[in-house]
Amino acid sequence: FARMPTLGDVPRYHAQVRPDAIAFAFEGRETSFAALDRSTNQVARALIAEGLKPGDRIAYVGKNSDHYFELLLGAAKAGVVMAPIGWRLAPAEIAYIVADTEAKMVFVGPELVEHVGEVAKLLEGPRPPVVAMEARDESDPPAYPAWRDAQDDGDPAVPIASSEVVLQLYTSGTTGRPKGAMLTHDNLLAMRKAAAEQTAMPWNVWGPDDVSLVAMPVGHIGGTGWGLVGLFNGAKGVVAREFDPFKVLDFIEHDRVSKMFLVPAALQIVVRLPRARQIDYSRLSYILYGAAPIPLDLLRESIEVFGCGFVQQYGMTETTGTVVYLPPEDHDPAGNTRMRSAGLPMPGVELRILDEAGGVLPANTVGEIAVRSASNMAGYWKLDAATAATIDAEGWLRTGDAGYLDEDGYLFIHDRVKDMIVSGGENIYPAEVESAVYGHPHVGEVAVIGVPDDKWGEAVKAVVAPKPGITPDADDIIAFARTRIAHFKAPKSVDFVEALPRNASGKILRRQLREPYWVGRERRVN
Ligand code: ATP
Ligand code: MG
Repeated sequence: FARMPTLGDVPRYHAQVRPDAIAFAFEGRETSFAALDRSTNQVARALIAEGLKPGDRIAYVGKNSDHYFELLLGAAKAGVVMAPIGWRLAPAEIAYIVADTEAKMVFVGPELVEHVGEVAKLLEGPRPPVVAMEARDESDPPAYPAWRDAQDDGDPAVPIASSEVVLQLYTSGTTGRPKGAMLTHDNLLAMRKAAAEQTAMPWNVWGPDDVSLVAMPVGHIGGTGWGLVGLFNGAKGVVAREFDPFKVLDFIEHDRVSKMFLVPAALQIVVRLPRARQIDYSRLSYILYGAAPIPLDLLRESIEVFGCGFVQQYGMTETTGTVVYLPPEDHDPAGNTRMRSAGLPMPGVELRILDEAGGVLPANTVGEIAVRSASNMAGYWKLDAATAATIDAEGWLRTGDAGYLDEDGYLFIHDRVKDMIVSGGENIYPAEVESAVYGHPHVGEVAVIGVPDDKWGEAVKAVVAPKPGITPDADDIIAFARTRIAHFKAPKSVDFVEALPRNASGKILRRQLREPYWVGRERRVN
C-alpha cells in the first residue's frame, strides 16, 4: 500500500501487477486494470481540458455503472473531487445537492436525463454543463465515451497529496438534510492499510479469484465504499446497475461472486425469494451487511439460507464506512448474545461512549458512540458549525448513535440518539422493539416510533407492513412482543401500512412516520 498513496495510484499499481485481470464487469462489458489505468488517464485529461482545477468538484447523478468508478478514479488523477448523488431522490432534492456541491460539471445516467430538465429549472445561478453517460436511444449518441476518448491516454502526472479531498459523499438524509462529508485519499485508503497489516481477518483478505458484487447505490458509502474495497484489493468488481434481488442470485450463480455487501432491507428481500433456497452457494464466502439495524430473526434466516460467512459492518459516511465489524465466528445462531452486537473496532479505530457533557462512560453504560479513526472525514462541506459540533480537537467524532461497549470491547448499538423513546422515564430503543416484533409470522416489515402520550410522555407504537395477503391482528402482535421483551418496551399500539418509507440506503424514515403524530407539539430531542 506504500505504492498506493492516492486513489489514482490504485489503477496505476494494479495495471503493473495484474494488467490483464478484470477490474470491473458491467452488463457484458469487462475492463482490465491496464485498460482502466489508460481510461482514467483520459478522464483526468478531459477534466483538465475543460478547465477544471484541483479542488474543483464534479457531480454524478445516476445508477451504478463501471463508468462511474472510472470517472471517480479519473477525477482523482486530476485532483478533482467527485460528488455522487443518489438517483432515487426527488428532483428538488437532487437540485439542492447539485447546487450544494458547486459542481463545475454534472454527469448523468440515461434514466435521469429527463429528470435533468426539471433539476435544471430548480437550480439557481449558473447551470453547470451536463454530460450524458449513455445513449437514451440511437438518435442520441452518448456524450461520455466520446468526451473521454478525445484525449490521449498517457498519465497526466498531476501531483496529488494524499491529504486532499477526493470524494464528497452525502449522508443518507435519515435524520435531516443530507450533509456533504469530505473524504480524503488518506480516509479512503486508511482502513485498507490497517487491515493489510492484520492477518487475523480472513474475511478481509482477498485473493486473485475473489469477485465482489457492488449492488448498493454508489450515491452512498455502501456502494462507492464497497466498490473501492474490492478495487484496492485487485478483485473483480461485478457492478449491478441497481439492486434487483433476482439478479443478485443470478450474479452469485453465474458470475462466481465471492463477497458482497447488502443492507438489511436488501438482504431481507433476497432471502425471502423461494429461489434463494435452490442455489449453490459454494463460491460465496462472505456476506457483509450493515448500515442499519438488522432484526435477529432475519440474520438467523440468512445464515441458514446462504450458509456462508457473515460479517456485520457498522460505520457511517463520516467515517468512510466501516469502523466496527462483527466477525463470522460471532455469528452463532444458537442464542449467542454477541450476535446482537455490531462487533469490534477495526484495526486502528478507537471507540468511546460519551455522556451528554462529553464525559467518557464505563463499560455496559449506554451513551453516544464516538469514533477516532484515520478514516474520519476532513469535515462537512460548507457546514463549519456542524463539523465543529461533530469532531472535537482531539479527533473524536460523535456519531449520533446510542450504544454501549461490553467488558470485552464489543459494541452494542441501540439506535440513533434522536429516535430513542422516553416512556414513563424509561429509555426505549426502537431497533430492539423492531427486532422483537419482526419475528411475528404476519409481519413483513416493522418500524417503531414514539408518539405523544399524556400519561407516559411518549408511548411505543409499531408501524407494521404485513406480509402479502395477510390480515394481521394488532393485539396478537402486541402479545407476541411481550413474550420477547419487557412489557414497558412492547408496543402499546400498532398501525398497519402497505410499505414503510425508506431512503435509498434502505433506512426506515422514522422521522417521517412520527410527523403526523407530533403536529403542533414539540418532541424532546436528546
Ligand atoms: P443522516 O446523517 O443524513 O441522517 P444517515 O446517518 O442514515 O443519514 P449514513 O452515513 O448513510 O447516513 O448512515 C450512518 C448511520 O447508519 C449510522 O450513524 C447508524 O445510525 C446507522 N448504521 C450503520 N451501520 C449500522 C449497524 N451495523 N447497525 C445499526 N445501525 C447502523
Ligand atoms: Mg448520520
